[in-house]
Amino acid sequence: MNEYKTYKEVLGEDSLTQWHTYATADDKTHAFVVKGLDHKPEPQEIADELQKDHNIKVKSVHVMNTRFRPLYLVITTADHKFSTIQKIKYLKNVEVFWERRKQTKTIIQCKRCCGWGHATSQCHRQQKCGRCGEDHQTIGCKKDIHCANCAGNHLASSTQCQVYIYKVQKIQEKQQKSGTAKNYVPAPTPKVNVWETRRQNRLREWPSDNNVSVSSVNSQNEYIRETQDPTPRQSSNYASGQVNQVSELCTVINNFKKAINISELTRFLRDYTVALNNCTHNNEKVAVVLQYIEKSDEYKF
Ligand SMILES: [Zn+2]
Ligand SMILES: [Zn+2]
Ligand SMILES: [Zn+2]
Repeated sequence: MNEYKTYKEVLGEDSLTQWHTYATADDKTHAFVVKGLDHKPEPQEIADELQKDHNIKVKSVHVMNTRFRPLYLVITTADHKFSTIQKIKYLKNVEVFWERRKQTKTIIQCKRCCGWGHATSQCHRQQKCGRCGEDHQTIGCKKDIHCANCAGNHLASSTQCQVYIYKVQKIQEKQQKSGTAKNYVPAPTPKVNVWETRRQNRLREWPSDNNVSVSSVNSQNEYIRETQDPTPRQSSNYASGQVNQVSELCTVINNFKKAINISELTRFLRDYTVALNNCTHNNEKVAVVLQYIEKSDEYKF
């Protein structure tokens, strides 16, 4: 219970709302999400149109990392309200829809070093000012604004900071991954157990012990040791059941080794992983997955 209280206190401190009191009105921003720009215009084009055609004071526009339709995050000065931005129905000649950007921060921020994702009480880093980014406390600072995380022209607590946006995107990606994983319909259980059938065939092919692998020999030694034990801990039925399971497992592993060319499979997985790691965007990852589904025939596993 005490731990919970401390946790709450730390989270409370980390909301950093007090930092905004050291910022002038110009430093404050509002953020909106715009949907419908499926032809993916450059963020700068959106910023230009909002400024020139709609008199919106745009601070920056970011492409949000989403799996399906592209979303843009529009950061404006604080004098634009959702009701006014919502009146903009078209951008780049396309009908658009606006959403409020949730103001609650998805991740906690350290009050000491201004880093994201760890609590102040856990921090052992150099103290950084939330206003100017230098090595002193935030309170009382009157210096020019430089983000402690990216040196950009905003407070370290700003949700327009690239470091913050990147961290939130990473969290969202993880959530999307786990979310979509649940959407997969599991394949029905096959009527015939392929491994079982293959195992039976193999057993017919192996009449003697000559082909028995090291792991099978070990399991047999295990069997001997178990049966010779003068004070068996478990009934012999249980012990032999265990041994049967182990030897069955060994057989399955051996069959797997014979059925699959492991070095080819490893080569495929290595190339595939390298290709995936070279991707910077989700679209590229999808392309790589499709490419490797096609390429899998080139590997002889
Ligand atoms: Zn810290
Ligand atoms: Zn400062
Ligand atoms: Zn920043």
